Amino acid sequence: MAGERQDDCLFCKIVAGEVPADVVRETGTTLAFRDINPQAPTHVLVVPKVHYRDAPSLAAADPQVTADVLREAGEVAAEDKVDGTGYRIVFNTGSGAGQTVWHAHAHVLGGRGFNWPPG
Ligand code: AMP
Ligand code: ZN
Repeated sequence: MAGERQDDCLFCKIVAGEVPADVVRETGTTLAFRDINPQAPTHVLVVPKVHYRDAPSLAAADPQVTADVLREAGEVAAEDKVDGTGYRIVFNTGSGAGQTVWHAHAHVLGGRGFNWPPG
């Protein structure tokens, strides 16, 4: 069920400590860890500890935890000192937009320039 741990979900396993990750921040509701295939000098994923398939589903069910994810994205950027130059918070939503892991997550990307519109 939405909100509950999914045994076949990679990010649920990382939250549970069953799959190792390079964790940079943890709160009661969120975990932030470095992306295994970084696309920028800073590339951190911020996930809610609860399982929802994507960010809008999380937002509909739990606005407070959605806010926690966004606040933590900002904290990650500040800790990596990319907040001064600017950074991207990206929620790929749906396979056509590049979502590959079906547990809501924010990408925090920084430390280089970014084009607009995105590819
Ligand atoms: P998305 O394509 O938006 O669903 O993002 C999923 C992200 O998870 C990709 O950027 C992957 O590189 C990343 N990823 C996959 N497996 C791991 C892992 N074990 N630890 C950290 N990041 C991962
Ligand atoms: Zn999950």
